[in-house]
Amino acid sequence: MKNYIKSLLILGLVASCNTNASKETVLEEAEKPVEGIVYEEYQGEEPTKPEETEIYEPVPPRVTLSKRGIPSDAIVLFDGSSLDNWISTLDSTAAKWTINDDNSMTVANKTGDIQTKQNFGSVQLHIEWRSPAEVQGENQSRGNSGIFLNNLYEVQVLDNNDNPTYVNGQVASIYKQHIPLAMASSETGDWNVYDIIYHAPEFNDDGAKIKSGTLTVIHNGVLVQDHVEIKGTTPYIGWPKNPAHGRGPLRLQDHGDNSRVSYRNIWVREL
Ligand code: MG
Repeated sequence: MKNYIKSLLILGLVASCNTNASKETVLEEAEKPVEGIVYEEYQGEEPTKPEETEIYEPVPPRVTLSKRGIPSDAIVLFDGSSLDNWISTLDSTAAKWTINDDNSMTVANKTGDIQTKQNFGSVQLHIEWRSPAEVQGENQSRGNSGIFLNNLYEVQVLDNNDNPTYVNGQVASIYKQHIPLAMASSETGDWNVYDIIYHAPEFNDDGAKIKSGTLTVIHNGVLVQDHVEIKGTTPYIGWPKNPAHGRGPLRLQDHGDNSRVSYRNIWVREL
């Protein structure tokens, strides 16, 4: 028994020595100068006190949430009360979509897209949408709508449940450019949430694109577009185009085939 305990003690000592040795190796590795990206703000003499690497300005602005979860610095574009912030894309008259009793609105078929009166550049957008519970049509003709950032770049809205289509045009695709990383739709007839981060492209004075725009899309809490590069416009037919542009409206699509898609709780934060 004594020998058994002695063996255990020796084994423990060896194990502990090995752990210490590996810790030292890790520390030595971490302290080695790393070749690669050099951050100029972290050059110079190595700080010796914590205060030397602590900064106090600028102080981030305080943002609070309303009872409905809307950030205090957001611009509310639709809360169910009216379509006053929107116009018809066809003729710039009042938007003709239907406002419902549950604070949502529904595409009025063949009345055309609607767009915000206000123009935006880069934004964080929150928008909720629902395909009708009563299924009609298939492929791209089932609950098809879309959200056009800057009036040009479509994040697809589609009822894809048991309804396959080309994957670069499925729900949450950047239409005909980026396949979503996952299909995260709610049951048909239930509400979906998109949280979208859009960074606008940049153009030089000659109208040439010098920096691509990007899109990040979170669908019902699932990351489905991860800071993807916008290659240009998102047409049904043809390649992406890159017309120079500044700020533009946010536009919602009337696909023209009785999609009956509804939207609610739309707000943006300008970036
Ligand atoms: Mg669409």
